[in-house]
Amino acid sequence: MQNLSDISVIRNVLERHGFNFSKALGQNFLINPSVCPRMAENSLCNENTGVIEIGAGIGVLTAELAKRAKKVVCVELDTRLLPILDETLSEFDNIEIVNADVMKVDLHALIKEKFEGMDVVVCANLPYYITSPIITMLLESRLPIKAVTVMVQKEAADRLCTPVGSRDSGAITVCTNYYAEVRQLFNVSRGSFMPAPNVDSTVIRLDIREDPAVKVSDEKKFFRMVKAAFAQRRKTAVNSIASGMGISKAQVAEALKKSGLEENVRAEKLTMQELAELCENLLL
Ligand code: SAM
Repeated sequence: MQNLSDISVIRNVLERHGFNFSKALGQNFLINPSVCPRMAENSLCNENTGVIEIGAGIGVLTAELAKRAKKVVCVELDTRLLPILDETLSEFDNIEIVNADVMKVDLHALIKEKFEGMDVVVCANLPYYITSPIITMLLESRLPIKAVTVMVQKEAADRLCTPVGSRDSGAITVCTNYYAEVRQLFNVSRGSFMPAPNVDSTVIRLDIREDPAVKVSDEKKFFRMVKAAFAQRRKTAVNSIASGMGISKAQVAEALKKSGLEENVRAEKLTMQELAELCENLLL
């Protein structure tokens, strides 16, 4: 098998197919040979597992996943990569490429159709321009998956993995912690990619919880409140929730009081439990 993280092999394949990297599609392909085996090892896949990959590139991670899993289905948007993947992954019979935008694929239907009877995990070197939308979509759609192992920009990893209630937390921190236990696995320098991006990266894993971290009676209202609370970071929670949800400050102040919270508290100071309680006490 060709070494798909060898620069001369990559250059040769790409040149023969007349392929140019698309910045708009977040195409930074891995050239560090140690990264993909390590990601695959940490993804919780095994010979009984189905893996969904997002964005194959030339298949460097796809191949490592296929060596360890029962089946890999990779959703790749760029049609120009299909003939390349036909060539680079030709020796595997457990890989299927779905040529589509992952944000438009019905992943519930895909899992049902392709992974009957298998545990399913997601593993991907995400296109950075849609990291948050992809992670939010994977979590909010309540897919029957065990874990999501993804490479993201280091800053995004820090934001995702910081504890809820700490200075750097945001709405995405609350969302990931609500649905999953989050951990940082390892850092990857910018020089591990071709072309090299301007930032370093981190591989994180989200282990999907059986039940959400806190109980809320109306999830839609909870996430509406959370998004509003963190939308204007310099404002107090009372102001940002009131303006973001289009309700009066008095309503929010009353809910804060009932929850035993200071009226001038900021969203990033609130723990998961406090946010849940605030939501329960917020009468719309
Ligand atoms: N897995 C390869 C690697 O590690 O070298 C490629 C990773 S590259 C960062 C991101 C990949 O996602 C590219 O192949 C790109 O074409 C693909 N991609 C970008 N947007 C996508 C989308 N909306 N749906 C599916 N794939 C997408």
